[in-house]
Amino acid sequence: MISTDIHLAAKFLKNEGVVGIPTETVYGLAANAFSENAIRKIFDIKKRPTTNPLILHIKNYEELLKVGTDIPEMAHRLAKAFWPGPLTLIVNKQKHISNLVTAHQNTVAVRVPNHPLTLELLNTIDFPLVAPSANPFTRISPTKALHVDDYFKTKIAMVLDGGSCSAGVESTIVGFNLNQPIVYRLGAISIEEIEKIAGKVTLLNAGKTKTTTPGMCKKHYAPSTKIILTSNILQELNHWKEKKIGLLLFQQTIPNVQLIHQKILSPEGDLKIATANLYNSLHELDTMNLDLIIAERFPDEGLGRTINDRLTRATKK
Ligand code: AMP
Ligand code: MG
Repeated sequence: MISTDIHLAAKFLKNEGVVGIPTETVYGLAANAFSENAIRKIFDIKKRPTTNPLILHIKNYEELLKVGTDIPEMAHRLAKAFWPGPLTLIVNKQKHISNLVTAHQNTVAVRVPNHPLTLELLNTIDFPLVAPSANPFTRISPTKALHVDDYFKTKIAMVLDGGSCSAGVESTIVGFNLNQPIVYRLGAISIEEIEKIAGKVTLLNAGKTKTTTPGMCKKHYAPSTKIILTSNILQELNHWKEKKIGLLLFQQTIPNVQLIHQKILSPEGDLKIATANLYNSLHELDTMNLDLIIAERFPDEGLGRTINDRLTRATKK
């Protein structure tokens, strides 16, 4: 069921139900973070391994002090700069935060989402929400209420409809080594924006960490259709001549290829707009019964890096 009724959503959540919620990044699958019964439902519904920790969604910066401890000065500074917003901070957890949320680590991931409906919802209830992206494990993240409804139907109590997600890609995740920020996952806030506040940051290399997190899974964010990422679209088109192909492009269509469906992410060449359109375009291409999606590699700067990261993971089968 899709609805805009915040009080109904709050009622389901208070009764340990699972509700799809809008955020500025992607839709989340939310449950009461203080109820292990409710949290377990999320892992079941998403088919997500319990070794993958969840993000705590809190209503404001002050709540960070109630769920985290020994919070580095830099975390406070980043929270003040970007919350509410698409930045997730990894801090030491307080004892009362369930091991189910953190996958038995002593750290917890926390953020304040920037969506009016969800902020209102968080202010209506007296517990934080755990809310991983509202897609089955490894599939494309949802950016519209309809995507969530299509994925889960009656397996969840309802989807709170907050329109299309404005950022359209997951949050940037930042952890700390003492006071030094480490980017765990590229996301809706670019490295450059974070460095303006924090100075030089380290990028955690997926291969070098023991922590198993879905943001670091090689295969993730994937459509069912095979996808190829390339800097040379024409060469790939020549290679796959007899196939039914969809193109995912940054600014410009490819001329003289009439039978091929082309999706442009931002005709004006704006990386923020391209990011906001990325998953929706992948969802649409994925419903077109194509043999193949060929995606253009983005400039390796700002949000272009986040887009390349997601497209690279989508190519892994
Ligand atoms: P999702 O909400 O589906 O985008 O997934 C949440 C992301 O946060 C995943 O990549 C998690 O692994 C990551 N995450 C949550 N808690 C932690 C933590 N304590 N340490 C590192 N990553 C985390
Ligand atoms: Mg996810």
